[in-house]
Amino acid sequence: MSPQIYINGKYYSKEDAKISVYDHGLLYGDGVFEGMRTYSGKVFKLDQHIDRLYQSARAILLTIPISKQEMTDAVNNTVKLSGLADSYIRLVVTRGAGSLGLDPNRTSNPQVIIIVDLIALYDRKFYEEGLKIITASTIRNHPAALSPRIKSLNYLNNIMAKIEGLQAGCMEAIMLNHKGEVAECTGDNIFIVKKGRLLTPPTDAGILEGITRNAILELAGELNIPASESTLTRHDLLVADECFLTGSAAEVIPVVDIDSRPIGDGHVGQTTRLLMSEFKKMVTR
Ligand code: PMP
Repeated sequence: MSPQIYINGKYYSKEDAKISVYDHGLLYGDGVFEGMRTYSGKVFKLDQHIDRLYQSARAILLTIPISKQEMTDAVNNTVKLSGLADSYIRLVVTRGAGSLGLDPNRTSNPQVIIIVDLIALYDRKFYEEGLKIITASTIRNHPAALSPRIKSLNYLNNIMAKIEGLQAGCMEAIMLNHKGEVAECTGDNIFIVKKGRLLTPPTDAGILEGITRNAILELAGELNIPASESTLTRHDLLVADECFLTGSAAEVIPVVDIDSRPIGDGHVGQTTRLLMSEFKKMVTR
């Protein structure tokens, strides 16, 4: 059981996996990626991740050199070789090595990289006690500048907000959009519960359409919890009964405090607890 890395059809150990310093993924953040998890050896929502990867690539005019089926097989094979049952997978496609200069036409050979390793984003105690988060002053990228729907290798927008969070002693930070509405967190989508209703910002708020987010909306449907995608303001968050975040790495994590104000009674909410436990069952279905 050890991390496995696939690069363009070949498998490497962590130490031996290398790409060119001329790769535009490194030089300009020119590329796309996905983050996924396996549960008991099976990749959760693999088809949806593969679809989103190819859509992100299409949006930046990057042609992925292998088919979706070949990509699916490569991911499953890398997982198998790692021997890890519960792992985190980082799938990356870079524009490839090229000359110094932005021109993507001067690159060749996009690099398809699959890393299968472990991840622990947040300490276990935060899943029991809930996170304290802040609202960052860094707004999410304007969709007309770089659409947050593209999961690109250029994550500086999110990192700047993450730094604000860390400087305030918080592991996550809420990002508003250019209209001042709630968009998402730096690496997670956000939900609130208000009067028994589940609410999350719509994709046109300028967010990444999270696969965990969609799974939670699906679960809400199964559990008869009324849910909707609604425009949310910071005010809506501050007066919410409950709040939680979702992401492939984070899974479902409660939030109990925003900008030093307790959410609801300041404890992990009932609906949040229910969705956390139902999500645990869903991932191994
Ligand atoms: N928003 C952003 C900005 C993200 O990077 C991520 C993934 N880390 C998410 C939301 C959650 O998406 P998913 O549930 O598909 O992992």
